[in-house]
Amino acid sequence: AAPVVAIVGRANVGKSTLFNRIIGERLSIVEDIPGVTRDRLYATGDWNGVTFHLIDTGGIEMDESDEMENLIRVQAQLAIDEADVIIFLVDGRAGLTVQDEYVAEFLRRSKKPVVLGVNKLDHFSHHAQSYEFYSLGFGDPIPVSAEHGTGTGDLLDAVVDLV
Ligand code: GDP
Ligand code: MG
Repeated sequence: AAPVVAIVGRANVGKSTLFNRIIGERLSIVEDIPGVTRDRLYATGDWNGVTFHLIDTGGIEMDESDEMENLIRVQAQLAIDEADVIIFLVDGRAGLTVQDEYVAEFLRRSKKPVVLGVNKLDHFSHHAQSYEFYSLGFGDPIPVSAEHGTGTGDLLDAVVDLV
């Protein structure tokens, strides 16, 4: 079966924009399957000859009154469980947030391979803003602009290296 790649991150980092960008411009779409909710969408495509399923998840919400296990929306957890590789997306303009740290902890527990994309770095001059995300412990942060489509090829190269 084709490997499953899930885009995971807190709300508003640009997951859906990245999903649409990848599907729209970088992947040849084999099929589109509407998800069970509007926040969870699947597509199938290939990159450099590797076919995979891509999942766009809803954001992971942080509720300080709840246990960690309750912080993840069910669909995001399901996507993580299903995934062979996870694209962990953060917002390079906003910088590292407590929510990102919560997501990171969840992903560490999943023990799935993670590629870290730092989104909203729309200009090359902003790429240094990705460095602070090294502290999340997922290796080299990859600067991307889902809106402009820059860096998404590097991100997918890293993904297919892990499948
Ligand atoms: P999601 O909640 O993680 O799915 O995030 P969305 O894809 O809905 O995007 C949230 C907001 O960030 C929207 O207003 C997008 O237009 C904006 N956004 C997404 N990607 C980029 C980007 O690369 N650069 C900039 N400047 N804004 C972006
Ligand atoms: Mg979304």
